[in-house]
Amino acid sequence: MTTATYNTAPYDKDVYWDRGTGAFVCKHCKKTYPVTLPVPLTIFAVVKKNFERLHQRCKAPVRIPEPTETV
Ligand SMILES: [Zn+2]
Repeated sequence: MTTATYNTAPYDKDVYWDRGTGAFVCKHCKKTYPVTLPVPLTIFAVVKKNFERLHQRCKAPVRIPEPTETV
């Protein structure tokens, strides 16, 4: 494997990558985390991991802050 490709397949986990919107999506609370591509795979992996950790325990739809908060 010489070409680096983003893992665009839906994860078995609670978080999946939506290539249509270019964002990670939590299956539980539907919260999204948009990522502007292209981004280094290392960053991509870190963001994915962090998002998974944040949402691995969230089960039901919960009240969350506005996801469109600008930084
Ligand atoms: Zn969640």
